[in-house]
Amino acid sequence: MSVWDDVVGQPAAVTELARAAADPAAMTHAWLFTGPPGSGRSVAARAFAAALQCPLHGCGECTACRTTMHGTHADVREVVPEGLSIGVDEMRTLVQLAARQPATGRYQILVIADADRLTERAANALLKAVEEPSEQTVFLLCAPSDHPDDVPITIRSRCRVVPLHSPPPDAIAAVLAGRDGIEPATARWAASVCGGHVGRARHLATDADARAHRERILAMPLGLRGLGDAFAAAEELDRTAKAEAADLSGTRDAAEREELAVAMGAGGVGKGVAAAARAARAAEKGLERRQKSRATRTQRDVLDLALIDLAGFFRDVLLAGCAAHVALTSPDRAADVHRAARQWTPESALQRLEAVLACREALDRNVKPLIALEAMLTVLQQG
Ligand SMILES: [Zn+2]
Repeated sequence: MSVWDDVVGQPAAVTELARAAADPAAMTHAWLFTGPPGSGRSVAARAFAAALQCPLHGCGECTACRTTMHGTHADVREVVPEGLSIGVDEMRTLVQLAARQPATGRYQILVIADADRLTERAANALLKAVEEPSEQTVFLLCAPSDHPDDVPITIRSRCRVVPLHSPPPDAIAAVLAGRDGIEPATARWAASVCGGHVGRARHLATDADARAHRERILAMPLGLRGLGDAFAAAEELDRTAKAEAADLSGTRDAAEREELAVAMGAGGVGKGVAAAARAARAAEKGLERRQKSRATRTQRDVLDLALIDLAGFFRDVLLAGCAAHVALTSPDRAADVHRAARQWTPESALQRLEAVLACREALDRNVKPLIALEAMLTVLQQG
């Protein structure tokens, strides 16, 4: 067992990281993990953090390894943006903490899971720290790419880039069957349809609702008989995304509200109660704002998964139409893919694919989801 077991299908990156963890001369204080969603950027960053703290450089079993992997190591902090972006105040606090001496570990490590979601001011606060790091501080940034749209050049130029790739299906199937104990045939199927996303493969292999939802989405392109179907499908996508987001955040929201109420001494009497009540109301407003932003992001992420499935389907149709010998995104829908390729002209398949991509962009620009989905599904229906 080692900390690298969860880093699926990335032999080159693992070799480089393991070497740097074991040899201080090969070490750098700022790293940028890049790769498509699902390639395991934050998993690789966390494994590296564990290897840096571990006296045996990543045994996977000692306290340093286990606490880092569980997110409880005192000298490893991880920022996972819960809203749509990471703000400057949060970043300043984290940068200050990262400049301290390590309490127990060898380094103070700050992992930034979605560095592409830093606000400009937060990025500037981070840049100052990356430019003048304290001796034992290590920054591990994760982003989809090292393009200036994702990471400012000023930060990028001070980081060593570790490029990750979508892991191949057989590597994913091996992990699901071996480590998660999933039945091999299910593991192979999930690995073949997950688009190189290990977490998604695991979710599909273990959750019947997720499988059913995927089925309904992939049945949409050929199931839209008229505009009525298109609007109904848009409504269903919007509703299920909202429900799933509410499901994911509901319990957390309630727990957070309760914690805040306790911290603010809800229900107290005596002097200063009015001032305390005002402060409590302000804190409550702040919490509500953060929770709302998180819910919007979760809903958007859920919708994005559906859109990626749809885009994959239309890509498959285009490839089938020109008889390209390329692996399908959804090999289990091959019959539908070939039927659609016979039914639609390549131009019409391309228009549908573009409508899906335009919908993703619209959601990114904060267009109301139902409106963006209706626009997309109208094109999917008419071609
Ligand atoms: Zn260890």
